[in-house]
This record gives sequence, C-alpha cells and structure tokens, in this order.
Amino acid sequence: MKFLQDQVQGTREVEQQVSGIATSDGAGVKLTRVLTQAQQKRLDPFLMLDVFRSDEPGDYIAGFPDHPHRGFETVTYMLAGRMRHRDSAGHEGLLQNGDVQWMTAGRGVIHSEMPEQEDGLMEGFQLWLNLPARSKMIAPWYRDIPHAGIPSYVTPEGVEVLVIAGKSNGVEGAVTREITQPVYLDLVLPAGGIFSTAIPSSHNAFVYVYRGKIRLGKNTVEEKRMAILTNDADGIILEAERDARVIFVAGNPLGEPIVQHGPFVMNRIEEIYQALSDYREGRLG
Ligand code: MN
Repeated sequence: MKFLQDQVQGTREVEQQVSGIATSDGAGVKLTRVLTQAQQKRLDPFLMLDVFRSDEPGDYIAGFPDHPHRGFETVTYMLAGRMRHRDSAGHEGLLQNGDVQWMTAGRGVIHSEMPEQEDGLMEGFQLWLNLPARSKMIAPWYRDIPHAGIPSYVTPEGVEVLVIAGKSNGVEGAVTREITQPVYLDLVLPAGGIFSTAIPSSHNAFVYVYRGKIRLGKNTVEEKRMAILTNDADGIILEAERDARVIFVAGNPLGEPIVQHGPFVMNRIEEIYQALSDYREGRLG
C-alpha cells in the first residue's frame, strides 16, 4: 500500500512523562524498564517496555539464558547488535540491525536470547503485548521479520516511518492482531519535521523518544522519556525540535484482569499457580 495522509483533526496531548527504572534482567543485562507494572492498567494492552543501549559488553554479554513465558506476546526490535533466539517450540533466529522478532508465548515457551558479539553497541527494545483471556493458552507462534521486510514510508516532510505493526497513513505493517490491534511505528524525524497519524479512539497510546527532542501538543518530550498520551483526539501530531528518533505504540485495551508473576501474565492467580507447576513439572515448553 502507498502513503496516504490520514486526516487528523487534533492531537492527543501528553498526560504524563515517565523516565523508567534502571534495572537488570536475565543473567545480568542492564536495561531501563520504561513501561512498568504501575502503568499496565493505563496502557492496557501493553505490559512492559524495556530499553537497552550499551557499548559495554559487561552490560549485555550474559544475555537471557533459558527462561519461560506464558500468556502474552513479546516484540523485540534490535536497532544495533546481534541476538540469537532459540525456543522450546523449535524456533531459532538471529536478530540484528533493525530486525524484529514477534513471539507469541501463548500456553508457553522456554527460550534463550543471547548476544552474538563480544563488543560493540547493543541497542533495542522489547515490548510485551497482552493476549486476550481466550487466547492465553494458544499454541506458541514466532516470526522473524528482517529489517528489509518491514513496510515503511517517507512523508513529504522527510520523516521516515517503519510500520512494525498496525496501520499508519495507509500503510499496513508487518504484523496485525485482531483484538489488541497494536500499532507500532519507528520514526526518524529531521529537525523541524512534523509527523501525524490517525489513532482509533479506543486505543491507549504512548511515545518514547530515544534520540533528540519533540514537541507534542502543548508539551515537549525530552530524550529518554516516555509520554503517555491522552485518549481525547483522533490522532497525534508531533514535531521534532531537533533530529529525533521516536517509537510510537498504541493498542486496543482488553479491559481484563491482569495478574503478573515474572514471565507469566494471566487473568487469575490460580492460573499463575498452574503456570508455575507446569513449568516445574516440564509441561510448559
Ligand atoms: Mn524472554
């Protein structure tokens, strides 16, 4: 499909800005958890956003050895570096230089995510997207999307847009989901560049500025800030105050109870106990 500018009457505004929490996960990978459990309800259907960026091998070299997941989807976007994925459903893939991996854990996978480099920059995002209650126990699914296979467009303003999921300005992304309807865009904006896209009125949405600085409605959003957006307009209109890179994420809320215990996200505590015993007894992966 070709670029076809969405009609946008007004922009959603910044409701809250979040700078995230420095933490480590896996075998000691340093990262910033930008979307934490505290925002899961507000940003339903999204459960987590981790940002990693380091050229210190000690920050990432230990990787994420074998660990389980159940009840949601993980979307890993590697901007720089090389990461090898292997899982108990028999999938294996190498993510690098702008590739995306979309994994539906469903009823369960055990997988490892390990760096395949001894030095250099490792940078990217991992977003967790919830599954509706009725789909939490579906069979695992997995797809590697090479960078060149991700639909993209350039606006007349010179803004480059990668459409990882959903639809933007007439361009259909690499992945679509019927219930959560995620929209996941990566934007490269020249200073002064304006970008707009329509957002379904039901969707919760946020942006994360990972380079530069943008203006969004009445506010500016600095580098390394997530802005949670209000739900009161039919789209977003943002402007780069200097060269900027931004991810934009939106999705249709599920409105279902969320019970998370580490890598398991279900609706009821009993289902967490079930996941724990399935994992312990080798029935999960
Ligand atoms: Mn994982």
